[in-house]
Amino acid sequence: MRFDILSIFPDIFSSYVSESLFARAIKKSLLQIKIHDLRKWSRERHRKVDDRPFGGGPGMVFQVEPIHRAVEAIQRQTKKLKRRRIILFSTRGKKLDANTAKRLSKYDQLTLICGRYEGVDERVADHIADEEISIGDYVLSGGELPALVLMEAISRFKKGFLGTRESLEEIKGFYPVYTRPASFTPKSGKRSWKVPEVLLRGNHAAIDVWRRKYGEDASRRIHA
Ligand code: SAH
Repeated sequence: MRFDILSIFPDIFSSYVSESLFARAIKKSLLQIKIHDLRKWSRERHRKVDDRPFGGGPGMVFQVEPIHRAVEAIQRQTKKLKRRRIILFSTRGKKLDANTAKRLSKYDQLTLICGRYEGVDERVADHIADEEISIGDYVLSGGELPALVLMEAISRFKKGFLGTRESLEEIKGFYPVYTRPASFTPKSGKRSWKVPEVLLRGNHAAIDVWRRKYGEDASRRIHA
């Protein structure tokens, strides 16, 4: 699978991609990640890719032309790949979840368009992108973090991305985990913090029941 990321901050990606499971996946040729500097497709002297919004209002907006040129170039570079899709990150997009990540993992190539500033000329959504994705109901400063989040969520569904030791949550379930020591007493504390007894006894049927019960109980997640 190949990802083509379009961003005005291409350097954001290098350390994360070179230090994580991505590095291993790239080495194994499971994944290709190509970062494209949107400014390369500016025809303006100062490599400008944004302008003021029609109708007024604050901020700057990415122009449609450089994005169109960039996406055309990426499409030419990837024309041998069968299943391709163009994604725009947007606060108004469909909210990312595991089903969406799994669906997108079936493509051979994804182009990820990262907005900045006040956003992207709406004609990119209307005429260039195949879909718009939001990673949650909050506003970030750009699409770069969403691109990393989406790539990682998708890649975990690709065979071989996770080692044998990091199995899929889908199979594993979402349960809390503990490791040694079984009892920990902080220096300042009076009581020890104990691992649930059931996990220490080796009764696997009982452990499964416990894991299912605690994995599902989200109400415990705000602690104070
Ligand atoms: N006022 C604009 C804010 C744009 S934020 C708006 O409401 O859309 C700048 C860019 O960051 C967006 O174009 C988008 O590409 C990205 N972005 C910000 N928050 C995001 C989120 N929750 N999910 C996906 N992309 C996001």
